[in-house]
Amino acid sequence: MHSIIFATNNANKVNEIQSLVGANFKVFPLKEAGIDIDIPEPHDSLEANAAEKARTIFNMTKMNCFSEDTGLEIVALNGAPGVKSARYAGDDRNFQANIDKVLLELHSESNRAAQFRTVICLIWNEQEYYFEGICKGHITFNMQGKKGFGYDPIFIPEGSEKSFAQMDMEKKNGFSHRQKAVTQLFNFLNTIVS
Ligand code: IMP
Repeated sequence: MHSIIFATNNANKVNEIQSLVGANFKVFPLKEAGIDIDIPEPHDSLEANAAEKARTIFNMTKMNCFSEDTGLEIVALNGAPGVKSARYAGDDRNFQANIDKVLLELHSESNRAAQFRTVICLIWNEQEYYFEGICKGHITFNMQGKKGFGYDPIFIPEGSEKSFAQMDMEKKNGFSHRQKAVTQLFNFLNTIVS
């Protein structure tokens, strides 16, 4: 069994990936690894923020670790909120305020195309690797559903009529950007450790 630190404090994300990890790995979120820091995300790309998080944890622990950064990229907003998804409406990272801002900005817009994009940065045996997962879909006109987190109530993935917030976690995972990136990550890890 290999230990690997997941550089996040977000319990939703840890729960989402738990089922994908497989028997070869034990994933420790920051809290369980005894690390209590809020890692900055100062960069203007998902890749650079993911790298910053993984390098910060690696420098502190010298352990294998990975981080992820996700953004909602809306075509009519030229890719916004993108790397600023968490703080789109302000530094308090309020999910509702972020949703309200997006719906207002898209108020009279008929092009609702959007995608979630997740970038993972893995540091394994001191080497860096990157993985990406994309989920294409569109932004609704109103909030739909109460499950999930973040922009889930206003995002409908391609191939579904329901928003992420109307799906249970298993169903969301079938579409999820994060699931796609994490699956690639563990496929890769299983190949190199077996
Ligand atoms: P993070 O930087 O990876 O934590 O993600 C930035 C922001 O994107 C989060 O605060 C959420 O608002 C949003 N986000 C990330 N993943 C999801 C998701 O699966 N559903 C809805 N919103 C998400």
